[in-house]
Amino acid sequence: MPEFDLIELIRARAAGRPDVVLGIGDDAALLSVPPGHWLAVTQDTLNAGIHFPDDTAPADIGWKALAVNLSDLAAMGAAPAWCTLSLSLPEASSDWVGGFCGGFLDLAGTAGIALVGGDTTRGPLSISVTAHGLVPEGRALRRDGARVGDEVWVAGALGEAAAALALWREGRSEPALRAALDRPVPRVDAGIALRDLASACIDVSDGLLADLGHVLAASGVGAELRIADLPTSPALAAAFAGEARWALQLAGGDDYALCFTAPAERHAAVRAALAKAATPAACIGRVLPVADGLRILAPDGSHWAPPERGYQHFSGAP
Ligand code: ADP
Ligand code: MG
Repeated sequence: MPEFDLIELIRARAAGRPDVVLGIGDDAALLSVPPGHWLAVTQDTLNAGIHFPDDTAPADIGWKALAVNLSDLAAMGAAPAWCTLSLSLPEASSDWVGGFCGGFLDLAGTAGIALVGGDTTRGPLSISVTAHGLVPEGRALRRDGARVGDEVWVAGALGEAAAALALWREGRSEPALRAALDRPVPRVDAGIALRDLASACIDVSDGLLADLGHVLAASGVGAELRIADLPTSPALAAAFAGEARWALQLAGGDDYALCFTAPAERHAAVRAALAKAATPAACIGRVLPVADGLRILAPDGSHWAPPERGYQHFSGAP
């Protein structure tokens, strides 16, 4: 199938928005940015065999390619607006593109983001998405605002995607965990709800310790995490126990939860805002002076150090 027909297949199924002056079809899209807003721009690429298992369905690849970008917008407190899609395909298959669009455009419709352009080329399977979001001036969430005494929170789940990947490598599958890997839920409503509550925010893509580490470095602070308070789904608890589970929750990655800090006096307001955004929330620690580093409390209250064997998983931690 010629490249033009593939693009037409995508264009025919893409939904618009009133602020899209000109979408797919010209040399560039024309978009109307509302006054009083900043544009949040982010890009993420998924490569076959690296960012998703080879047996991943095209619809799931489509979903995930957009979800990881929406998660970045969420972490900034930005509302999704527009996106572009760069597709590198080994062959021009309308079946593959049709399946891919099913996942990608389903999620785009739910999130209210319009696909306004892109690029289609031949090459190894790779999907790159650029997403644009809108945030009222001055109200974006950043990594550098955590202060000593703030609480550390997680909105969403931890460890499930990494658990699914660990099982997949052993030739096993658990549907509830695999869903977390293939169809991560970007926490868009939570990010918007946290605009005036969180002091710093990041989305967890590389593992909680690594990503919280970025917030601590940007903010010039340390933190203490309580393993007993980490969100633990029934499916994760059934598949992994003890330190193996802690490692997945703390360092697994691909979670797309939001990790954020907020002043302790806003505790009840944070809970209420996330309940309204229908997002599971857990208060998992507190911000400490930078000299304390990042320390982890085991459920028995003792300080816990990652085991030697799993150490490489923790290399992103400060
Ligand atoms: P040009 O050669 O001017 O860059 P293209 O032939 O690459 O234009 O693309 C034609 C139109 O189709 C453009 O508006 C472009 O943004 C859009 N487009 C191309 N590939 C995709 C894609 N994978 N998804 C969405 N829009 C696409
Ligand atoms: Mg052109």
